Amino acid sequence: MLNDADLERYARQVIMPDVGEDGQERLLAARMLVVGAGGLGSPVIFYLAAAGVGHITIMDDETVELTNLNRQILHITASIGTPKVARAAAAAAALNPGIEITPRRERLDVDNVDELLSSHDLVIDCSDNVATRYLLGDAAWRTGTPLVFGGAVRSEGQLSLFHTGTPDSPCFRCVFPDMPDAQQAPGCSEAGILGPVTGVIGALQALEAVNWVLGTGGKQTGRLLLFDARGGGFMEISTSRRNDCNTCGGQSV
Ligand SMILES: [Zn+2]
Repeated sequence: MLNDADLERYARQVIMPDVGEDGQERLLAARMLVVGAGGLGSPVIFYLAAAGVGHITIMDDETVELTNLNRQILHITASIGTPKVARAAAAAAALNPGIEITPRRERLDVDNVDELLSSHDLVIDCSDNVATRYLLGDAAWRTGTPLVFGGAVRSEGQLSLFHTGTPDSPCFRCVFPDMPDAQQAPGCSEAGILGPVTGVIGALQALEAVNWVLGTGGKQTGRLLLFDARGGGFMEISTSRRNDCNTCGGQSV
């Protein structure tokens, strides 16, 4: 049951037929893992906390640097040199003290990824390196955890939802079969990034996660949304399972 403070805090979404008190209770019960508290993680964490996602785990092992601040809006100049998860957790708790935030200052690796995914309802990839993305993609398929994928570099972004339990949904590696090297997929430190581009993609990731819980989501499975901030706008391409995929072989778990 929502209390009076909850009904007031979430009034503008509870009033929507797609949400209602039932939907808000589901959001408050949801457990989400956000991997990365940087450019994508910033809007994701803010919007999940604001929406009342009740349990948010934030993973990141880095500290805030001055070069982060053109886009990583969770962080402030005074937090330079301090752990990103500490500032992220403090900002989310200040926005919404009624939810549980668990900061984990560590890196996702082969030893912790399955346990972490299995203990959450959904994972949001806000990481900044391909090794983490493939680790997460493979583990999401193994554990059956819905994965909200987002990426942004320079003035372009991508978004998709991978869920092995959804009929015909490809896994991450069906769509991205080969791990690119640093030259093929340069990160923000080499290629640059416009802050609002991470804002667009991060906001869409948060929306996809909220929609998933409300049962109004899943639309982004089997599709890869591409965003071009230099006038191209949004474009979608269809994706599908591949029988020669090294991770899923075209199968659900
Ligand atoms: Zn696959």
